[in-house]
Amino acid sequence: MARYTGPVCRLCRRAGEKLFLKGERCATPKCSVEKRNYPPGQKTARRRKVSDRGVQLREKQKAKAIYGVLERQFWKHFEEAERRPGVTGHNLLQILEMRLDNVTFRLGFADSRNQSRQLVRHGHIIVNGRRTNIPSYMVKPGDTITWHEISVKSPIHDEMAAKIKNRLIPLWLTLDIANMSGNILHPPVREEIDTDISEQTIVEYYSR
Ligand code: SF4
Repeated sequence: MARYTGPVCRLCRRAGEKLFLKGERCATPKCSVEKRNYPPGQKTARRRKVSDRGVQLREKQKAKAIYGVLERQFWKHFEEAERRPGVTGHNLLQILEMRLDNVTFRLGFADSRNQSRQLVRHGHIIVNGRRTNIPSYMVKPGDTITWHEISVKSPIHDEMAAKIKNRLIPLWLTLDIANMSGNILHPPVREEIDTDISEQTIVEYYSR
């Protein structure tokens, strides 16, 4: 499955804000936005005036970067959001949140969505007792997400188990820390999604 393989800090610098794509490093002074808060390729901190269309495009690019989704898949998610009843922008965010790689990250099984995606791809994650290695797999209310029995003995499991007590879990998920297992209570409503994205701006981008 295709994924962005370029330098991720560049995406933050392009967006002009921290997108928290690298886990712990994002909270340190090593963060590229802290050190060089100007667009990549530009030598000064001056930003050019951006048109309305440019603002819409940036918001879409930002959402793609945050959730680690390429254009084709993002467009598919948008089409699905339009098909569903309700507000398209909210539906889009809900779909992005219900991806298995995002849920694994939200449960605290990984430091970043990139790492979470890798865990899923490498077969460390189990959904309802079955190994599921598709990052875009859509979880459903009632699903149980946990680690594969072999992966429980891996160093990455131990590392995340040590960190997980400090993680804030969204209200639409439950977490059993002792067993490193999570459940989906319900699809998230907008207020339960803390991602700083203007979904309406993305809808306007695709509506032209
Ligand atoms: Fe973005 Fe994190 Fe890199 Fe900072 S360290 S630029 S927040 S990915």
